[in-house]
Formats: sequence, C-alpha cells, structure tokens
Amino acid sequence: MRPRVNSPIRYELLATAPSGARAAILHTRRGQTLLPTFMPVATHAHVRGLTMDEVAASGATICLSNTYHLLLRPGPEVFKRFGDVHRYMQWSGGVLTDSGGFQIFSLPGARDITEKGARFRSPYDNHAHMLSPETSIEMQQAIGSDIMMVLDVCLPSTSGEAETREAMERTHRWALRSLAQRNSKDTGQAVFAIVQGGVFPELRTLSAQTLTASPFDGFAIGGLAVGESRELLYSMTQHTAPLLPADKPRYLMGVGTPIDLVEAVNAGVDMFDCIIPPKMAQQGYAYTFEGQLRLTRVEYRMGDEPLDATCGCPVCKRYTRSYLRHLAQGNHHLSARLLSIHNLWHYQQLMTRMRNAILENRWAAEYAVLRELLGPKKGMFRATGAKDGVFELVTTRGGHRVVRHTGHGEIMHPVGPWEEANRLYVDQLEVERRLRTASDEPLRILDVGLGAGTNAIAALTRAKEMGASRMRPLEIVSLEHDLAPLRLALSDPEGFPFLQPWKHAVQALLDHGSWEDPNFTWRLLEGDAVKLVDELDGEFDVVFFDPFSPESNPTMWTVDFLRQIRSHLPREGGVLATYSAATPTRVSLLLAGFFVGHGVSTGLKGETTIASTGAKSLEQALGERWLARWQRSSARGPHGDELTTELENAIRSHPQFAL
Ligand SMILES: [Zn+2]
Repeated sequence: MRPRVNSPIRYELLATAPSGARAAILHTRRGQTLLPTFMPVATHAHVRGLTMDEVAASGATICLSNTYHLLLRPGPEVFKRFGDVHRYMQWSGGVLTDSGGFQIFSLPGARDITEKGARFRSPYDNHAHMLSPETSIEMQQAIGSDIMMVLDVCLPSTSGEAETREAMERTHRWALRSLAQRNSKDTGQAVFAIVQGGVFPELRTLSAQTLTASPFDGFAIGGLAVGESRELLYSMTQHTAPLLPADKPRYLMGVGTPIDLVEAVNAGVDMFDCIIPPKMAQQGYAYTFEGQLRLTRVEYRMGDEPLDATCGCPVCKRYTRSYLRHLAQGNHHLSARLLSIHNLWHYQQLMTRMRNAILENRWAAEYAVLRELLGPKKGMFRATGAKDGVFELVTTRGGHRVVRHTGHGEIMHPVGPWEEANRLYVDQLEVERRLRTASDEPLRILDVGLGAGTNAIAALTRAKEMGASRMRPLEIVSLEHDLAPLRLALSDPEGFPFLQPWKHAVQALLDHGSWEDPNFTWRLLEGDAVKLVDELDGEFDVVFFDPFSPESNPTMWTVDFLRQIRSHLPREGGVLATYSAATPTRVSLLLAGFFVGHGVSTGLKGETTIASTGAKSLEQALGERWLARWQRSSARGPHGDELTTELENAIRSHPQFAL
C-alpha cells in the first residue's frame, strides 16, 4: 500500500456570492494566500525585469514557475545544491509549478509522445529528455514548489472531438500516475489535477467527474486561453467551475486580461496566472480602472496625471503619463520595468477589490461596475435603433439607456443619467438646501448643455419632491444647440422614465422654448452657447456645466467662455460643477476667476470638479498638493491655449493659494 498523504494545503471558504464567486483563504506551508488571487509568472525563476521583492511589494503572495524551463536551465542538480526555488530567487511567498506539458506540446521542435510520456530534445544543447508524469513530479519536487501540477496532454483549441477525448483520457491516466508519484514520498507539496475536454461541454463534465473522484488537493481548468474565442473561454469556465468541489481551490490556467479575471471570478474560480501584465508592459500598455492605456499615443505627451489616480503603486505615486509615454515611445528598458510594476499592482488591486466585494455581500453590483470599466470598448453599449440627427439611443452594459453622439462617440452620462445628474449636480451643488431658503426671488440654475434634459429634470424633480419645505420658486435656463437628444429621450419612456412626469414641460420647451407653472420656470436658449451667454440676463446661483468634452467641444472650455459664465454669478456663493477633473479644466476655471475644488466622485470618475465665485463655498479647495503637482506637470496650460509666463503668474498669485 502507498503511504497516505494528508493534503498539505487547506482551503478556507469565507463567502460565496449568488453567482458562485468565492472569497477564501488558501493555507500553504508558506503562509496564507487570500483568494481569489493572481499569480505573477516567474517562468525562469524571475518575473521579467523585476526582482522578487518588487513582485512581493505589489501584493502577490504566490507566483508560478515553469518546470520545463527550469528542468533545462539551470537543471535539477542546481536546485539540489542550492535548495528550493524560493531561496534561489529570494522569494518568501508560495510557488506553483506547472508540469511542463504545455511547453512540450506547444513549443516547436521534435518530440515523441507515447503513453509513457514525452521524449524531446533540449533546444539549448540537443540533449534528450524524458518528461513523464513521474519525472515531471520528481522535477517539481527538486524545485521545491508548494503546489505541483500533473502532466497533461495539451491540444490546440481547434482540435476535433475524437482527438480531444483521446487526449483527455490520457490526461486522466497521467493524473493518477502523478498523484501516485507524489504520494510515494511525502515532501509536503500539494498536487492539482487538470480538467481537460477542449470546448466540448460533455467532455468537460466527464473530465471533472473523473478527476474529482481522486484525492487531488485542488483542480485546474486547463486547455483554455489557447486561441479560442472569449465567449468560449467564458462559457467553458462557467460550465466547468461549478463541477469542481466546493472545498478545494480552483485554478484557471493561463488566464488572462483583467476582464477575463472578472468573468472567471464571477463563475467561481479562485486562482489565475498570466504573463500579460509584464508582456503588455513591454509593448507600452498599462492597465487601469478606466481601461487599458496605450502609452505611445500622442495624447499622453502632455499628460501630467498618473497612469491611474486610484492606484497606490510606486510608479503612479511619482511619474506622469507624459514621462512614461516618453520612455515607452523611445522603447527604453525602464518603460517596461515601470509599466510592469504598475500592471502587477493593478492586477493585485483588482483581485482585492473583487474579494472585498464578495466578502461584503455586494458582488453583483461590483461585477456590473467592473464589466463597464474593464470590458472591451466595442460592445460597451447596444444600439436601440432610435436615431435623431447625429445622436442615437444606446443601452450600456450596466443597463442604462443613454444618448450617444455618433460622430465623436461620446456618451452623455455614462454612469447612468439619473444617478450622475443627482450626485454630480443636484446634490453636490446643494439645490435642495438653496430651495429651503425663503425668498420671493427664484433660485436660478444655468444649465449649460441641456442634452437629454436629465440634469434639469433632476433639479425640477427634487424641487417638486420637497413639497412644502421648498421656500422659493425655481427657474432653469438651459443652453443647447441640438435638441435631438431631448427628443430621443422623450420618445423612450422605458429608457428615460424620469422624463415622463415632465413630458408636458419638455414638449412645451421643444415647441415654444419655455414652460412655466406657478412654481417653476424653464427656458431654453437654442444655439451656440458661446454666443448665447451674451444674451443671459440677471444672475444665476448655480451652474450645471455639462457640455461634451474639451476634445469634442473645445470652444466651451476656454477661459473666455468660463469668464463670461462667471460674470453671470454673484460675487460670493455662486457655484458650478462639472464632470471633468482634468488639469486644463481646473486651470481654465482658475484663470476665469473661479475658486476651484475637488468634486465628488461618480461611479466611473475618481473625481470631478466644483468651482465657486467665493472661497467660502468650497469644502475641498485645491491646495498646496495640487499646486505642487501642477508646477511639476508638463500640461499646465488652460484648454486651447499655451501657458504664458503671465498666465502662470496669475495661477500662482490666485487668491485661492494665498489663503
Ligand atoms: Zn500604478
């Protein structure tokens, strides 16, 4: 009888979301790994370009090394002499080793595969090697990893069913031989089996049933991420993960991009490995919570922001996008190194974010947000078919109906119109408190960029809901040059339900340019806002500043235009909010004479901007820190203009920074 080996690892399940997403702790002899986890790939006992200390600083607690490569170089004798791979590469976390199967089957070169194993020649010295289930485990024992993988037969994803079944059955036989080899000597190492079966659900089911009948310490889903489509990767993962035991770790091999991880975690996978973070770094790509950045793009030349304002990595703490673009464009070694560090941190932060959401019982909402943020931009939304001029109605993946400009592609209120209108404009600018101040004079809102009417309707709705606590009338003046978005929104009660109680008001605005009742007045000035601003009469208390972005709509973000807006506000207490937190936006506002502060965050934007005609109205004015960053940055000018010495002095001597 073979000696019985107790599992050297323990899987402690902490929470399971309704989708099957799991948060857990994996206890190994190297300590705890919080699941779900991402394992950086240290193929040749290092992560390309980084020390293992830098890898550890990103938050990684387990990494992957490659048996095939370490077998050839430096070779098992070296590990026998120097001890395990951890000590060799100076890494105190866990190590998982793959079996070498994937390399044998996918790398070019002669090989001879029989039931016994794979015979191949080293590409380095033409030496003959035999990789069998037994020798693979022996090699992994010499390397001293904490989790070993069984040798499996890997096929391209295009293989037919008969071929896939044959490879799967051999994989099952090899898995049992690997387990027996591990059990013949208790080295304290765990061993995972690998579910195969290609893209055939019934084979995946059979493979999972067969392998889970044996006491493996964990189970991997293999043979994916080898060229099949995203849809197949996701559907095979969703099919296979629930077939695996609830009390053991599940590992999806070789996956993937950030959105792949989100989808697989949703399906109940715990562990991942992928070369993408450093590999994409080498090609000049950075991953952020606002999607992927290609740093060689010219738009980053003057970028004074970090890669990701929400990232805690040492690169984001110190370097601008402009500098990183400079390095990436020149293909300097430092570029790949710095972007690798950031990308590894990003992956770990993504895993932490997902884990916390599962633990805090809010996975479904987090999943929706992450899909919106990290999913492919193509397919971010679905057209409903409704069009008017250059505008169309689309549904975002988050389920919101929004208006999209078919020319430059920008979406109005990408976070979801109603939420953004209330949070960014109505709440932040304290419309309700202002309406509670008793007066015969109306509260006057200037609505720059009426769009689908969402911001104005949000203010009207709030005022109406206040009932008797509203102590003054409300007047809104909206500026807009194209009424197609409003018409589209009005024609879609299901997508824009909040417009419906106000449809007579909206119709009156469309037909006559104004609507009135005893408590509310709503006027439309139709045309170019830059010209219309001259025609405004009287003072406004509040400005909803919501035009399309400076890139698509440059004339509405200039210092001149903002100065004209400001001239229609009272000297103290007039406030403006906008979704843009870009440095040129804030510089333009400062030069237009506003006091400028950090605005609330919305779902997608880490921060927005609030401005006021007096310093007192700002809770979080931009201060020394912002000024220091601005002084270091390379994009210091206002929108549409260079920063002259005169303008620079105007910023430095702005009363906001003298307070
Ligand atoms: Zn970073």
